[in-house]
Amino acid sequence: MPSIRVVNLKKYFGKVKAVDGVSFEVKDGEFVALLGPSGCGKTTTLLMLAGIYKPTSGEIYFDDVLVNDIPPKYREVGMVFQNYALYPHMTVFENIAFPLRARRISKDEVEKRVVEIARKLLIDNLLDRKPTQLSGGQQQRVALARALVKQPKVLLFDEPLSNLDANLRMIMRAEIKHLQQELGITSVYVTHDQAEAMTMASRIAVFNQGKLVQYGTPDEVYDSPKNMFVASFIGNPPTNFLRDFSVSVENKQTILKRDDVIIKLPEPVDVKLKEVVVGIRPEHCRISRERVENSIPGVVYVVEPLGRDIIVNVKTEKGEIIKVFGDTGKAPQPGENVFLVPDLRKIHLFNPETEETIL
Ligand code: ATP
Repeated sequence: MPSIRVVNLKKYFGKVKAVDGVSFEVKDGEFVALLGPSGCGKTTTLLMLAGIYKPTSGEIYFDDVLVNDIPPKYREVGMVFQNYALYPHMTVFENIAFPLRARRISKDEVEKRVVEIARKLLIDNLLDRKPTQLSGGQQQRVALARALVKQPKVLLFDEPLSNLDANLRMIMRAEIKHLQQELGITSVYVTHDQAEAMTMASRIAVFNQGKLVQYGTPDEVYDSPKNMFVASFIGNPPTNFLRDFSVSVENKQTILKRDDVIIKLPEPVDVKLKEVVVGIRPEHCRISRERVENSIPGVVYVVEPLGRDIIVNVKTEKGEIIKVFGDTGKAPQPGENVFLVPDLRKIHLFNPETEETIL
């Protein structure tokens, strides 16, 4: 399977810089997710990989071959879309077989390949149905089968699970991951769902406003976000931000201070700024009923039970709503005074101007 290399890729639609100088590599057989909010340029990047859009500038290589001018049908890519894009008048069999028809493959071979891939995707009992007689999940399996039947070297996914309900999405994401691992096809998967990107991909390219903000493993983007955008996009609920902390150094200890709290960092940090934003993940903060060192006072605003755990929303004296995972056994009640105790080894500091990560 080929590796993919994208170099300083740009796509402008008039004044809109849909993709604005993006570079990344996908290793042979790797599963990479392009993650970001709506309109950040993920789909445009994918369509350039497929050959459907021509880049304004920049290069795309499959292995060492520049494919910029190679038309889609010669790139050996399979695509799976959000809306499945099945032909409504054709049966499931005909839909899956369609890409093979154009290739002058014998009837027996077509049948063999269609049945084989349908079995793999557990839809071999649906081959005589029309797409309208299928559930959303089944339609997506057909779309996947149609992409795979050509035995592509690269698989491109554009939000393939967005139209499915939450349960089915979880089932399908594990199945797609399993299938990709089994077949080892180099894959690029566009999504705005951070959980999908985190669970499925070996590396995640986080996009914002046409640019690639950070490219790393799920652990890297989660543990070491490059800036506030990544810190807020990765994780659910996202990182909480507390603003307006002044920074000082006393006895070689870095101290973060504002009206309602003083935080003494366990290790000295070279901040070079007078003010920082503190980032605390909901899973890296506990709730105390008594004031302890480095704790932020607040009032419980709302409690959201999730079954296994709960999310406690605490309003600070500054009016920020901070989300923290709590203990189901002894959940605090709305209106109760509490103290947020962050795990200081896991907090992040950000530059309030540039929003870049300091710690
Ligand atoms: P979504 O998740 O909503 O699909 P995306 O990250 O995939 O978002 P793109 O579809 O790549 O985003 O769009 C990036 C930007 O380019 C958007 O501002 C969009 O409006 C613009 N854009 C995309 N396609 C075209 C087009 N054919 N003509 C003009 N502008 C376009």
